[in-house]
Amino acid sequence: MKQVSKLIAKKPDKRYCLGIESTADDFGIGVAKFNGEILANARSGYIPETGGIHPREAARHHADVADKVLGEALAEAQLKPEDLSIVAFAQGPGLGPCLRTGATVARVLSSYLRIPLVGVNHSVGHIEIGKLKTGAQDPLTLYVSGGNTMVTAYASGRYRVFGETLDIALGNCLDVFAREAGLKHEKGLPFGAVVEQLAAKGKKLVPLPYLVKGMDLSLSGLLTAANTALQKGGHTLEDVCYSLQENAFSMVTEVTERALAHTEKKEVLLTGGVAANKRLQTMLGIIAEEHEAQFHVVPKEFASDNGAMIAWTGVLAYTHGLVTPVEESFVKLRWRVDKVDVPWVKQP
Ligand code: AMP
Ligand code: MG
Repeated sequence: MKQVSKLIAKKPDKRYCLGIESTADDFGIGVAKFNGEILANARSGYIPETGGIHPREAARHHADVADKVLGEALAEAQLKPEDLSIVAFAQGPGLGPCLRTGATVARVLSSYLRIPLVGVNHSVGHIEIGKLKTGAQDPLTLYVSGGNTMVTAYASGRYRVFGETLDIALGNCLDVFAREAGLKHEKGLPFGAVVEQLAAKGKKLVPLPYLVKGMDLSLSGLLTAANTALQKGGHTLEDVCYSLQENAFSMVTEVTERALAHTEKKEVLLTGGVAANKRLQTMLGIIAEEHEAQFHVVPKEFASDNGAMIAWTGVLAYTHGLVTPVEESFVKLRWRVDKVDVPWVKQP
């Protein structure tokens, strides 16, 4: 990123950022006003016919729907392309072909409209939209999604990672379990939500592994054991879903609680697609209360991957003098959140 704050003054009458999200299965375009109003949050999700996300197929989906989603976002925001002042895009982390598709759309818009390009870290986007929408100022954040599971908090210029998964992400664990159990996306619901509904009917706790290692956790053994328990028989699907959730959510809650005790933050924020889960919300609410911290959950509309979070983080970066020259706009597949400076966050 470069410091080019002079660009801000160039179009003082235009204060809109278009944000493109395409890190994995969702292609989203949002529009944020510089004052934090979200004017649009259009999206199209790719659902594989069988199996998990195939990066090239997801990328093809993104390319196919880009034009339509762009049109929807602009219509929702009641803007014309010429009204935009900057274009932000999720530069990483994520799946290469998917990221490259979003980046290409962003570069085209930036070059055609002659407006600056801002590369945004996807994980930072989830944290910032959570803060914007809940009013949290300086939270300890549990970010749980299809591709990420981490506990982060701001310290000395960056969001630092206090704990994370050593293997698969929490959302991925629920999704793979659901797929292997032969579940379907009932009424278009994400697999995590399907597991949640079944878990609510579960009563008996099936013994499953619980793996917290220091401040990190491991979910792949739990996933295998849950699948095995189901295949072997003797347990209802509802009980296995319930037990899978109880174990996995207790693990992330334990790590979050320890980080909360260590950092003494006064707010806890739950963000990412899995944040929609009521049982997880309850567990985190309990530890927040025990530590006299306020508990915040990102609204459902902004929980899963979305363009609005990229647009808003683009505004934050740009108004703090950061832009991404096109020659530096290559995608970063493993761009960790703790490698990103966030100069807009003030040390409390
Ligand atoms: P994201 O990667 O942020 O787009 O979030 C998608 C992930 O959130 C997927 O793994 C979904 O299964 C998961 N998810 C969505 N809704 C729920 C829910 N109610 N409970 C648990 N997981 C969910
Ligand atoms: Mg997603």
